[in-house]
Amino acid sequence: MAKTSAAKRPAATSQIKSRIRNPKSRKYVYFFGGGKADGNRNMKDLLGGKGAGLAEMTNAGLPVPPGFTISTEVCTIYYEQKAKVPEAIEREIADHVKKLEKASGATLGSTDNPLLVSVRSGAKFSMPGMMDTILNLGLNDDAVEGLKRKTSNGRFAFDSYRRFIQMFGNVVLEIPKEAFEHEFEAVKHARGAKIDTDLDEAALRDVVERYKGVVRKKSGKAFPQDPREQLKMARNAVFRSWMNTRAIEYRRIYDIPDHIGTAVNVQMMVFGNTGDRSATGVGFTRSPATGAKEFYGEFLINAQGEDVVAGIRTPQPIRELEQVMPKAYKQLREITTRLEKNYKDVQDFEFTIQEERLFMLQTRNGKRTGYAAVVIATDFVAEKLVTPKEAILLVDPEALNQLLAPGFDPAEWSRIPTATKGLPASPGAASGQVVFSADHAVEWVNQGKQVILVRRETVPDDIHGMFVAQGILTATGGMTSHAAVVGRQMGKPSVVGAGELQIDEKGKQFRVNGQTVKEGDYISFNGLTGEVKIAQVASKPSEILQVLDGTLKAEKSDIYQRFEKLLSWSDKFRRMGIRANADLPDQADLAYKFGARGIGLCRTEHMFFGEGRIPIVQKMILADNEADRRKALDQLLPLQREDFYGVFKAMHGCPVTIRTIDPPLHEFLPKREELMVEVARLEATGKSGRELAEKKSLLQRVEQLHEFNPMLGHRGVRLGITYPEITEMQTRAIIEAACKLRKEGIKVVPEIMIPLVSLVKELRDQKTIVDRVATDVMKEQGVKITYLVGTMIEVPRGAMTADEIAGDAQFFSFGTNDLTQLTFGFSRDDAGKFLKIYQDKKILDRDPFASIDTVGVGAVVRTGVQLGRKTRPDLKIGICGEHGGDPASIHFFESAGLDYVSCSPYRVPVARLAAAQAALSVKVGD
Ligand code: PEP
Ligand code: MG
Repeated sequence: MAKTSAAKRPAATSQIKSRIRNPKSRKYVYFFGGGKADGNRNMKDLLGGKGAGLAEMTNAGLPVPPGFTISTEVCTIYYEQKAKVPEAIEREIADHVKKLEKASGATLGSTDNPLLVSVRSGAKFSMPGMMDTILNLGLNDDAVEGLKRKTSNGRFAFDSYRRFIQMFGNVVLEIPKEAFEHEFEAVKHARGAKIDTDLDEAALRDVVERYKGVVRKKSGKAFPQDPREQLKMARNAVFRSWMNTRAIEYRRIYDIPDHIGTAVNVQMMVFGNTGDRSATGVGFTRSPATGAKEFYGEFLINAQGEDVVAGIRTPQPIRELEQVMPKAYKQLREITTRLEKNYKDVQDFEFTIQEERLFMLQTRNGKRTGYAAVVIATDFVAEKLVTPKEAILLVDPEALNQLLAPGFDPAEWSRIPTATKGLPASPGAASGQVVFSADHAVEWVNQGKQVILVRRETVPDDIHGMFVAQGILTATGGMTSHAAVVGRQMGKPSVVGAGELQIDEKGKQFRVNGQTVKEGDYISFNGLTGEVKIAQVASKPSEILQVLDGTLKAEKSDIYQRFEKLLSWSDKFRRMGIRANADLPDQADLAYKFGARGIGLCRTEHMFFGEGRIPIVQKMILADNEADRRKALDQLLPLQREDFYGVFKAMHGCPVTIRTIDPPLHEFLPKREELMVEVARLEATGKSGRELAEKKSLLQRVEQLHEFNPMLGHRGVRLGITYPEITEMQTRAIIEAACKLRKEGIKVVPEIMIPLVSLVKELRDQKTIVDRVATDVMKEQGVKITYLVGTMIEVPRGAMTADEIAGDAQFFSFGTNDLTQLTFGFSRDDAGKFLKIYQDKKILDRDPFASIDTVGVGAVVRTGVQLGRKTRPDLKIGICGEHGGDPASIHFFESAGLDYVSCSPYRVPVARLAAAQAALSVKVGD
């Protein structure tokens, strides 16, 4: 059981602190029942997703057992008051217990008609299985007899009691599950029972007595008999579970803030385990794996909720409910269809049928794979359930990324025999080495391996291993088991319930159909079909990429057509342009096909790494006089011209921003340490002559160029200033390529960008060179090209003096990589060593190199925009750092009023959708 970390507590905001001082003035508990609720669906902040859904369903007149929600604020107060709930709130809760007793006609602890409740967590954002739940609360040695009398079902009463003691014992008293399971198995064995339901009342009475013994032994106290005390303890345990390790890890992965806390829902129990006319289940209004319009889910007869999600018994598909309980099935379909229409989104619901009577226990917007998200959004528009504008907001931009992930090569896949088949829980191709524990998965991935996590069933504590694995394979559990839900949400290929796998987790191997697979062996599986094969299988580009490269016709790919439709809707609603960072013609071509309409950054130095170019570049760098440098540059000129020609052409007349040379020159030279070893080796072998002399002279030049802080050294505009002939060559290559295209009748819009400018005079120096050479080339070629000269804003001084710089710059592009580095003073290359610890300690919520720090770096960006536009109101401003492809950062850039974002070609679809969502949800200047 994960322990609560005392060091990490949600911080109370000053607002909440003032409420604590005067708790009487606030409402902290919200009732629902009898067709009326205090809350509604818009109150997720206070009631959490589950509480808001229960309130909404109650108000809509749906069959929801009555109950109340203790708000998320109480969780924050609980932490603030060092694990205590103020008296006034305790009284408010006690009043609601009375109200619930009235509404249900039952009484907590009664020996005639006992009220039993569930106590469930429910934060604003769903965190499946991460926090704790307690069912059947209210039972004690007397009430269990009352339950037996009321239901005339002694077996059911004692089964409920033993479940309660086990859950309460584990969650509240932190007694390991195994201690209870051990006793349960002992009774089963003694009575020759195969499955749980074989145990009769007498056997279950025995189990209860043994469980109470476990509690006494492990906690040092008797099992608490006062239901009101049980309720307080359970509520506090749910609050504590907000800070268990797996919940913290989950929030870190999904960027959910720690301070929002969880609500607690206390609700009258209904029972799916009273016999064969009762059941419990979960489902989705559409398939969360493929998006298909099919009623999707599963149920278990004679069971309680946790049996379905825990993956302990493999449940039946929901379709089969129609045969078993047709009336309840029909009602369930009607209700869930209505909920989907009402919420305008796929619903993920939980229900219980007690003696053929249906009760709804939860509804929320369903999590889905990226593939399903696109299918559902486009289907909803076709069904007129939503408008294209609403559809855009239904898809997480990162979902598009999943669609670009590779699949298996069908030819190779079909050659390998299928070892077994499981349930296709989350689509995608996964191939890797088998590991049997989440910790091993992380260890192996850190060693650079690709792994498949194979488990009998996953549990929420496995989250870190699931996150790093290529895919997840389990032997038990259904389409809504933990592995399936989390796999889909992470976009991780998952196959679950592969029942033929005989897994020996301790022995680190599994057997399937006569074959043994050991830890480290390769397996592959297809999350869309459920097929598992024992081999490493190469993957193949996604259908979307196949269409883009012309190997598959668009009409043949349903998903491509939907992807395209969604993005074309996005284009209608976005304000910002989308460009790509591309250095070579084939990258520019792909970016254009993905919808980029311009290059925001062409890093010219990347072209220097092309085949056969490094020796010329080295000659240029090693030259110790201008004449030799020019000789090398003359050799580079035609090569650069050719690259620029290709990039311009691939952009079909859209603007192309080309940056002059930026990185420190030593990046192109051999490593100093390696050269020293070479020289020593040659000397040791007694060799002299040319090779040694060359190496020595190279080492001498490398030493001359050595810098202590290359990122802050001789790079960017400083190179162009000290070696103007490099800027000259690059300008000539750009304008000559543009002239050539213009002569061929093709439009070109070159934008020449000077990096790392902090002083306006630096820019002026370079602009003079660019304009002079461009004029010369245009004269020579007899062609007039309209080009712009602008600058990157990536040094804080540049941003703070942007009004001066804009006097000379015709455009700005924020280089947020360097701007983040220089604003924080965090080295881009070394920050990895401490940023993770910063995040763990909550000093930083996220990596500022991945998602823009809107407070600090954001303020520098806003200042740069404001000052730049003061001088030049129509100044075109973009951003070309890595943040250009990050949806959260794109929201910020929308509010900062930038004209475009530029990102890597593969992120272009994500950026198109995120920019549309940003335009629909934030205003420039917000
Ligand atoms: C930047 O600094 O944000 C940028 C785009 O330039 P580079 O990453 O090449 O330094
Ligand atoms: Mg930079």
